[in-house]
Amino acid sequence: MKIRKIETKILKAPLKKPFQTALRRVESLEDIVVLVYTDTEHIGYGEGSPTPVITGETKGTMLAVIEYIAPFLLHRDIEEFDALLDTVERTILKNTTAKSALEIALYDLKAKSQNQPLYTMLGGTQREFQTDITISLGSVEQMVSSSLEALALGYRVLKIKVGETPRKDIERIEAIYKSVPKDITLRVDANQAWSAKESVQILTTLESRGVVLELVEQPVKAEDIRGLQYIKQRVQTPLLADESLFTLADARSLLENNCVDFLNIKLAKCGGIRNALKVADIADEYGAKCMLGCMLEGAISVCAGVHVASARAKTITMLDLDAVSLCQNTPTHGTVQFNESKILLSSAIGLGIEY
Ligand SMILES: [Mg+2]
Repeated sequence: MKIRKIETKILKAPLKKPFQTALRRVESLEDIVVLVYTDTEHIGYGEGSPTPVITGETKGTMLAVIEYIAPFLLHRDIEEFDALLDTVERTILKNTTAKSALEIALYDLKAKSQNQPLYTMLGGTQREFQTDITISLGSVEQMVSSSLEALALGYRVLKIKVGETPRKDIERIEAIYKSVPKDITLRVDANQAWSAKESVQILTTLESRGVVLELVEQPVKAEDIRGLQYIKQRVQTPLLADESLFTLADARSLLENNCVDFLNIKLAKCGGIRNALKVADIADEYGAKCMLGCMLEGAISVCAGVHVASARAKTITMLDLDAVSLCQNTPTHGTVQFNESKILLSSAIGLGIEY
């Protein structure tokens, strides 16, 4: 199966309601879809969403990078799979979302060429998954009511976005904690908004008031590794690295230096499926569990993350893959089901989702 042509398309999907974090506000998602055509009837589908404040990529840079890498892949056989992935990874530095979009399409094709679902090709068997849902940063009242709406839709895990002032953040977390049943799991994501000292103050205050959180995600700036260490030595609440984790070296350094308890793997940060699997393997060496997360992105790339979660089900125990459910609809089709908190992979070959 030889690569004949590589094309990009823009996928737009309005969100059900605006998405607000400490870093940004988004009203609709806009993704780049990659289509890799072959000399057979099979097309490989990939996708990535430019998130300038996290990966430094825009729609324009993604399109340029994919156009730059494409000629190095053309006319090559999907059978030289590892070499194709090396080409994507090494032809240009950084640009992890663009690379991930291309790489997902290659994995889709490889699984299609073997006539099996991607998760099976990767050694996974799990097909049913539960994701959390993000509660956007807003007023205490808005956030409590969004939390209750999410529970009514069947979600059992809430990811609360914070990052205003310590006083307000304590107030919103405590208010949500008191409004939901005790068997609901709460995660908090500060998206780098706190200092290390503020983090300790906020988390020890919540702990002293009996508020139980499963974890706190990325309390401090991405590069503030010492800050993470400082917090971890002073609070009981487990810490999860998100923006601090891009490369395999980041993963090892965060765990080796005892900075965090968990790693949030996103294909758009690590450059695709192969590195995502490797990050999970590094975590496994340290006995650490991982979350598989996503950007605000559509069904093709979210689905690629689910296949990775299936392949490393022992280590990837938390999913933050709510992006598809946050959209009014996404113009993709396939047999993978996204039904609010429940995600079900199908037995279709490849990813199971097409554009
Ligand atoms: Mg995050």
